[in-house]
Amino acid sequence: MKPKRILLKLSGETLLGSHESGIDFSILGNLADQVLAVKKAGYEVAVVLGAGNIWRFRDTKNSGIDRVSSDYMGMLATIMNSVALMSAIEHRGGVVRVCSAIDVPAMAESYINRRANRHMEKGRIVICAGGTGNPYFTTDSASALRALELECDLLVKATNVDGVFDSDPNKNKRAKLYK
Ligand code: UDP
Repeated sequence: MKPKRILLKLSGETLLGSHESGIDFSILGNLADQVLAVKKAGYEVAVVLGAGNIWRFRDTKNSGIDRVSSDYMGMLATIMNSVALMSAIEHRGGVVRVCSAIDVPAMAESYINRRANRHMEKGRIVICAGGTGNPYFTTDSASALRALELECDLLVKATNVDGVFDSDPNKNKRAKLYK
């Protein structure tokens, strides 16, 4: 039977841990362990990482940096997070490739759907970096896009709110949970 495919979306905030910005290495190690546990449970695994721990457009609105530049900086930051997770997974014996929507050939391969697909068939963990490669999107859009392109059976998002709401429950106490 064909193994089930799962895409894990991890927000950048997950990597913050006790830090104000950047990467908490104990959290990084823990995430690497968990990704490997999903792999060992028999799934083909793709991962999309956010960048809120380093750079996010909405935190830079009054900075004087234009939207498109800020979005590209966010996408670059996802590549940094992805390379960090790759390294932590490899350190634990996992086989992993970073496939990036933005070309940074010295650091990662380019995302080419058929190639990423083949890596997964071969049992490699694929980290899809660089978001969608386009400004005005988020890594949530990227995870939905990659989950569809890679024909994943399941998309799981680790985030700081529990469920799907009609607005942000951290800002709106009356946010309605969809059931
Ligand atoms: N981003 C973008 N296009 C994408 C994905 C991300 O422009 O396809 C930029 C955007 O500025 C975003 C930042 O990268 O704020 C980091 O992504 P996101 O906010 O989704 O990270 P998360 O909140 O999941 O940590």
